[in-house]
Amino acid sequence: MAENLNVLQSTQYIIEQALTRLGYSDGMVQLLKEPMRVLTVRIPVRMDDDSVQVFTGYRAQHNDAVGPTKGGVRFHPDVTEDEVKALSIWMSLKCGIVDLPYGGGKGGIVCDPRQMSFRELERLSRGYVRAISQIVGPTKDIPAPDVMTNSQIMAWMMDEYSRIREFDAPGFITGKPLVLGGSHGRETATARGVTIMINEALKKKGIHLKDARVIIQGFGNAGSYLAKFMHDAGAKVVGISDVYGGLYDKDGLDIEYLLDRRDSFGTVTKLFKNTLSNREFLEQECDILVPAAIENQITADNADRIRASIVVEAANGPTTLEATRILTERGVLIVPDVLASAGGVVVSYFEWVQNNQGYYWTEAEVLSRLQEVMEKAFENVYNVHITRNVDMRLAAYMVGVRKMAEAARFRGWV
Ligand code: NAD
Repeated sequence: MAENLNVLQSTQYIIEQALTRLGYSDGMVQLLKEPMRVLTVRIPVRMDDDSVQVFTGYRAQHNDAVGPTKGGVRFHPDVTEDEVKALSIWMSLKCGIVDLPYGGGKGGIVCDPRQMSFRELERLSRGYVRAISQIVGPTKDIPAPDVMTNSQIMAWMMDEYSRIREFDAPGFITGKPLVLGGSHGRETATARGVTIMINEALKKKGIHLKDARVIIQGFGNAGSYLAKFMHDAGAKVVGISDVYGGLYDKDGLDIEYLLDRRDSFGTVTKLFKNTLSNREFLEQECDILVPAAIENQITADNADRIRASIVVEAANGPTTLEATRILTERGVLIVPDVLASAGGVVVSYFEWVQNNQGYYWTEAEVLSRLQEVMEKAFENVYNVHITRNVDMRLAAYMVGVRKMAEAARFRGWV
């Protein structure tokens, strides 16, 4: 099956399957398999040495039948238009699964922030907002952080947008610092959501968290907070990895030490002599495997050798379609990316709601609402998986596209 498809093609493949199973026409498939709008921009930036470098950026808006579009902005040298398009479709699915009044959007700039100064990054962030300002806004399309963007970058973007519009617009962007209208719990939201998903999956498998051995690939924002939450909850974190390699100890790793020594790019394993390759690492003994790094890590080549009984995808697109089939046939419970990593957009939505009402919630309020939303989403997807006899990924897509398709139908678009 479709093992060599890129991320956009494989997403389109499952969207088509989901809509067909739900009884929608080919017109609906044609509408939802591509973003409605993709803007490509060129952003001139004055560099610190006085030269001018021109960067390429994108903003994709998948579908706004349900409401404004929403999704992060990624700064990375490998950003492509197809990747941004696929990510915007995944955002639509996530918003549908957790039942938010949004469609999906996503942005990206082809750049390497690790090679840029603080002021160059500020000029790039402001330039991007000027370039896309006509199609974004608090009731049109609301950006947020993603790979290699953070709350400082959100603050510059919010400031630039507010200057252009000549009013303070905190609801233009989420993931802001608390003093500028950010929400408690936003930074850890993805890992919190993944933790809730792990608990739900463990219940289905009849395993207690305290008896569970966890392997986490990736020690960045998602992976490192997750390691902390798992460790604090009494699970045994037996493996962690970063781009340089993996650490594994069947008796459990010293998570507090590793968190203390990790750098701001989520790397720590360089401090150790004997590390595993990421490939060997994924095949070690555990109960729960959490890919929290990059795409295409579990493929037809290694799916047979994954020893976990639960795979919870914190990363976007870590498992190929063929690997999904192999794992499902082997009885592995997969909590797919569009469900597992939706905690970030849920708390982004809470941030936007707080900005709109000008009234701010405590961290306890944010976390209890997140818990409720994520548990309900898991149950909905799991029920479709059981009652429609489809794998968890297809079940999540079926739940995720339904609201968007219905909204488009009521609007008379299809
Ligand atoms: P990050 O940049 O903070 O960390 C990435 C981690 O992955 C680092 O530890 C890095 O060393 C490691 N890594 C990079 N390349 C690797 C490779 N080839 N092999 C093994 N490890 C590698 O990123 P993040 O924000 O933690 O995001 C990780 C994944 O989770 C991404 O797929 C992202 O799209 C997804 N995600 C993150 C959030 C969020 O709120 N942070 C939300 C939804 C989805």
